[in-house]
Amino acid sequence: MRQTRTPENVEKEMKHFIDGQFVSSSDQGTFEVFDPTIGQPYAMAYAAGTNEVDNAVNAARRALGAEWGGMSLDERCTLLSSLADRIHERFEEFLVAECRDTGKPYGLARHVDIPRGAANFRMFADVIRNIPTECFRMDTPDGCGALNYGIRVPKGVIGVICPWNLPLLLMTWKVGPALACGNTVVVKPSEETPATATLLGEVMNEVGIPPGVYNVINGTGPGAAGELLAKHSGVDALTFTGETATGEAIMRNAAAGVRDVSFELGGKNAGIVFADSNFEQAVDGITRAAFANCGQVCLGTERVYVQRPIFDAFIDALKARAENFTPGLPISDSTDIGPMVSRQQLRKVLTHYGRATEYGAEVVTGGGVPEMPSELAGGFWIEPTIWIGLSEQSPIVKEEIFGPCCHVRPFDDEEEVIALANDTDYGLCTTVWTQNASRAHRVAERIDVGITWINCWFLRDLRTSFGGSKHSGIGREGGTHSIEFYTELRNVCMKL
Ligand code: NAD
Repeated sequence: MRQTRTPENVEKEMKHFIDGQFVSSSDQGTFEVFDPTIGQPYAMAYAAGTNEVDNAVNAARRALGAEWGGMSLDERCTLLSSLADRIHERFEEFLVAECRDTGKPYGLARHVDIPRGAANFRMFADVIRNIPTECFRMDTPDGCGALNYGIRVPKGVIGVICPWNLPLLLMTWKVGPALACGNTVVVKPSEETPATATLLGEVMNEVGIPPGVYNVINGTGPGAAGELLAKHSGVDALTFTGETATGEAIMRNAAAGVRDVSFELGGKNAGIVFADSNFEQAVDGITRAAFANCGQVCLGTERVYVQRPIFDAFIDALKARAENFTPGLPISDSTDIGPMVSRQQLRKVLTHYGRATEYGAEVVTGGGVPEMPSELAGGFWIEPTIWIGLSEQSPIVKEEIFGPCCHVRPFDDEEEVIALANDTDYGLCTTVWTQNASRAHRVAERIDVGITWINCWFLRDLRTSFGGSKHSGIGREGGTHSIEFYTELRNVCMKL
């Protein structure tokens, strides 16, 4: 909630990062940033209004000029590689900041969030150095011919609007290629998790990225910083990760000025386990896909289909894994599951838990809130939950919940499970578990999603395409696909 005073008892304040400087809001509006492990605010952040959004967009536009726009590709890529190095040098600070905002275990952020945050800059610096351009020699009536070739130019000022589940990783996934292509950015991190975007501002200055190239404005979405950024006529393109409904709102605003969008949205992903799978590998994979990051992963599996001969054994094994999670403080080595990010998300997911039983689900395990030590009792903790017995038309099986939960249902044959997996408005990803390679390919070809993982989950080669079909997104990012979004391709035709 927007306030105009500094809350007492908070450890730090987070400012916007505009034109290379940390600044507060001109109207002194602020909001609280919570530590989800205790459910208390630990920081206050300034909330951007029209002035801050204008200043950030104007700074980004100025920076497109000589200092950044005129920089050689080699210099720019060297700077981005230094940025990746510097994130590694300040690794522990990024780790602590990310885990404080999200409550996720250090073990997870140490192996996934922070290294990927750095890798996104290094990888796109490599991609842009090596991208080929199209060239066509054409015939002309006079016999002299003509040569066509493509040149890529930056799109301009990119608005980057981010979610809270993998804050640094998902933000740099967009900022990395945007900067590699020579654009400048205005980032609006999630209001739940502004810390690592703010810290990255310091690193930008340390390695010598010119002022205005990377700007951060903090605040909420509708009627606030997010919407102001999406509506701003000085923004040339918008890239967004978050809920499908938010994507629709941003798209309406992007229509003014016919601005390009790239959207990575929600999912209701299926995991398909055939009886011929490696059983232990499949159970482990589905456990991670359903419960990692406390289920707050867009690529997570909330619908599991298991072939009938192994259904009972699979349920027993998945239940044992789900009951083995240890919630606790991020720093503790024994912690392997954190809390939900916010009270609002906790309430939302608990509402789904309540509705599941009303719709007739049998609760295999979980369904509530774990008992925590008194010092953590105010945190946003929730139990990993497994249901069986729901109709495929139940909202629990249809809607994205975004919590540590899944519904498991038996199936008999390939045709049936392909139809079940495709019976959703979403199309982000799926996982298929089988040792029959032909079947794996057959199924992968027929599931309408952006990514199919076979016998694995969340294994990403950053050069490959990433994105969703149906309500799960617009466009593809990753490797050269990102370069296509973050540049304009111009054709030059020269008569010879
Ligand atoms: P969200 O849509 O609520 O918020 C995302 C961002 O949009 C936040 O910064 C928010 O402040 C901003 N925002 C909200 N309303 C806005 C508006 N009207 N105009 C401009 N900005 C606005 O999403 P969330 O709760 O932060 O994240 C969870 C969602 O993100 C889930 O649906 C999840 O599936 C999705 N997600 C998708 C991917 C993917 O790659 N497909 C990755 C991660 C998360």
